[in-house]
Amino acid sequence: DVPVPGKASTRFDLEKETELRFEVEAGEAAEQVDLELLTGMAEVFGSELNRNKKYTFGPGSKIAVFTWQGCSVNLYGKPEVAYVSKDTPMLLYLNTHAALEQMRKQAERDNERGPRVMVVGPTDVGKSTVCRLLLSYAVRVGRRPTLVELDVGQSGVSVPGTVSALCIERPADVEEGFSVQAPLVYHFGSTTPGTNIKLYNKLTSCLADVFSQRCEVNRKASVGGCIINTCGWVKGSGYQALVHCASAFEVDVVLVLDHERLYNELKRDLPHFVRVVLLPKSGGVVERSKECRRDTRDEKIREYFYGFRGVTFYPFSYEVRFSDVRIYKIGAPSIPDSCLPLGMSQDDTQLKLVPVTPGRDLTYHVLSVSSAEDGEEGARKGIVESPVCGFIVVTNVDTQAQVMKVLSPAPRPLPRHTLLIMDIRFMDMK
Ligand code: ATP
Repeated sequence: DVPVPGKASTRFDLEKETELRFEVEAGEAAEQVDLELLTGMAEVFGSELNRNKKYTFGPGSKIAVFTWQGCSVNLYGKPEVAYVSKDTPMLLYLNTHAALEQMRKQAERDNERGPRVMVVGPTDVGKSTVCRLLLSYAVRVGRRPTLVELDVGQSGVSVPGTVSALCIERPADVEEGFSVQAPLVYHFGSTTPGTNIKLYNKLTSCLADVFSQRCEVNRKASVGGCIINTCGWVKGSGYQALVHCASAFEVDVVLVLDHERLYNELKRDLPHFVRVVLLPKSGGVVERSKECRRDTRDEKIREYFYGFRGVTFYPFSYEVRFSDVRIYKIGAPSIPDSCLPLGMSQDDTQLKLVPVTPGRDLTYHVLSVSSAEDGEEGARKGIVESPVCGFIVVTNVDTQAQVMKVLSPAPRPLPRHTLLIMDIRFMDMK
């Protein structure tokens, strides 16, 4: 128990099956809080803590240290709040994991596929946390599950405005979450599915197809199954998107967090063999304001370019000639049915590639670099369904010289020349 210089330390002795919840103050100037396990065993969202190691949590972190057997921990620094709770749904979450593990065992035995699980619920019920927990538990017993991230507002895998899939090979790092190597990422372009629900459903189907193909050639991936994290929009088209996702992935289990009506609706609308389970949310989940969500999104983009914690990236800034790239927006503004050309439906307009003429209003927009082969009109067809290979941000546009300056993780030239514009902007304050 070596004191951290200049930081007050507080010791907490936790009884078995209780958790210490703490929050670190938000804001640039806020002091980090360190956590150390002194005796016993404990975990943070499914990842085990090592004894006598200091874990550091930055501004805005909201953490729960749970113990099955009892433990004592130290916090160094001044958390905004820190309290011990005896009332947690962890036992129910562990039972859920145990049931999923049974399904994996059975799949192994019968040469079938493992459970495909969709986690749903309104905002701020801890969906992402439950996904992380179930994935970490699965990987700790030797499984290789896949995380499917459909939350376009708060993606845990890539920048906002994307949907993605990631094979999980080791438990989440206590401080940094899952290691994000080689995710499969698709461009959506905005932070809410409602801006283009057709595109959202299309991309969900793309992910489901790729995942199913992988399961056919990779037995471990097939048995591991997947955990799908969804958006908090559970009414109207948001609800329809959940039903679509359940059918595209052919999910076996739906975990509904803290929403009885949604639970009943899904029970009514999904095929009878889908197990729909209602789970309580943890009292520890912290509600996040609009500003807090916006800051998290900004931070995610900053991390993409500049790195995270110990790892610093040095992005590049260079000029791109308008004539060297083709920029598109996916989805034309909807027009009344009566004005549509003969034989065309609204669906077609929502998935249409609309060429964007570069102008000053491009400044600060995030652009996805499509992996689609460069080429003329013919190649346009597959762009919506092609994954992205990276992102750039437009930092300046010179219409006179017909060039734009971009921030890019890699030096020039761009690997591909088809760019997709997002509604999302990023102002580089560094
Ligand atoms: P949304 O869909 O609205 O983005 P969500 O339902 O996925 O949110 P989470 O991101 O899982 O919710 O959780 C919200 C916040 O609460 C996170 O910062 C998470 O670290 C924190 N949190 C979750 N569970 C606990 C807990 N038991 N104790 C303390 N903090 C927690």
